[in-house]
Amino acid sequence: MTQVYNRKTFDEVMVPNYAPGAMIPVRGEGSRVWDQNGREYIDFAGGIAVNALGHCHPALVEVLTDQANTLWHLSNVWTNEPAIQLAQQLCQLTFADKVYFANSGAEANEAALKLARKYAHDHFGAKKHKIISFINAFHGRTLFTVSAGGQAKYREGFEPTVPGIQHLPFNDSDALRAAMDDDVCAVIMEPLQGEGGILPAHPDFARTARELCDKHNALLIFDEIQTGVGRTGELYAYIGLGVEPDILTTAKALGGGFPIGAMLCRDAVAKSFGVGSHGSTYGGNPLACRVASKVLEIISDEKLLFGVQERHRLLVNGLEDLNRRIGLFRQVRGQGLLLGCELQPEYAGRARELLNLAQEQGLMVLIAGPDVLRLAPSLIIPEQDITQGLQRLGTAMEHFKAGAAEG
Ligand SMILES: *Cc1c(COP(=O)(O)O)cnc(C)c1O
Repeated sequence: MTQVYNRKTFDEVMVPNYAPGAMIPVRGEGSRVWDQNGREYIDFAGGIAVNALGHCHPALVEVLTDQANTLWHLSNVWTNEPAIQLAQQLCQLTFADKVYFANSGAEANEAALKLARKYAHDHFGAKKHKIISFINAFHGRTLFTVSAGGQAKYREGFEPTVPGIQHLPFNDSDALRAAMDDDVCAVIMEPLQGEGGILPAHPDFARTARELCDKHNALLIFDEIQTGVGRTGELYAYIGLGVEPDILTTAKALGGGFPIGAMLCRDAVAKSFGVGSHGSTYGGNPLACRVASKVLEIISDEKLLFGVQERHRLLVNGLEDLNRRIGLFRQVRGQGLLLGCELQPEYAGRARELLNLAQEQGLMVLIAGPDVLRLAPSLIIPEQDITQGLQRLGTAMEHFKAGAAEG
């Protein structure tokens, strides 16, 4: 490349809604990434729980290349084989009978929320339109999904938001019991709040939500956009919770880095999305579906999912060892390879600093809110990358501590 692009060029031409780091990655392989200067990083961020099979997995490169030489796009005026195949896999592997394809998580949730309203409208009338969601939940950035989301900062300035949505404290069964009535058409929740700080739903709470939805003819929507496709050590987190939703949304890891989202539901609910009721130009695109089909084939393997649990133990033990030695975290929590390290109260609000220090040491990590360091590495990250990544994190934690001591 003759022209050199840097962070300054980014500021010149991009809308300022993101604040990326100065380092620009140019290449990835497995759980390693290299920047413009050839410096190497270990990837504990996984593209925010997207690159579930690491970077440039050979099997994904192969199907993507093959599909690129075969058929790219048709629109939904015609169907295509990769879309049908992927939908069939999703139905075989989950509770669902039917699948709707979108291009992102927010779009999958948009479809889920619209479908819940439509289903209630079709069966019970327009009055049944209330949606219950939870404080700190994250469901995407479209207007409907920020309205459903439980973080006011994502709604502020965009009002009026979508009406008819009530936000309750997460994991509070009594509050949910008190709020439920026959006007509720849906309850939407993450089985483990990701952006909200890596907070798992209590199984009792999820069961209560299921029972109350049944009692009031409301649909239970699980947003598994971050928890799905092996992330928690189950193919979908609802399997581990032992609670089946009526609608499930999945995206992020589903494409392993190729944009795709999907909404899964049962037949009776699917019927409310009749011909012409909803749609998307790119939804079900053959390239995306072909890649996702391979991702799902690889990740639904029992051995791979067992490997997620093994890596979980390795990573959690390593984090706890570091913390015993250095003492920054109040808690290390999460499931599978979606982990959160919450800073001690004295370091509150400084997770971003730790992220920057980790990057200086050649380690890519994430945050979930101002107080939580978040890790979402590849589900097949090699043991040696985990060990080496933890060493780098240890150094970053020591620097953080030293900096904190200096004031
Ligand atoms: C990332 C995420 C979304 C939004 O997905 P996009 O692809 O960014 O639209 C929605 N819900 C949850 C739980 C997520 O983690």
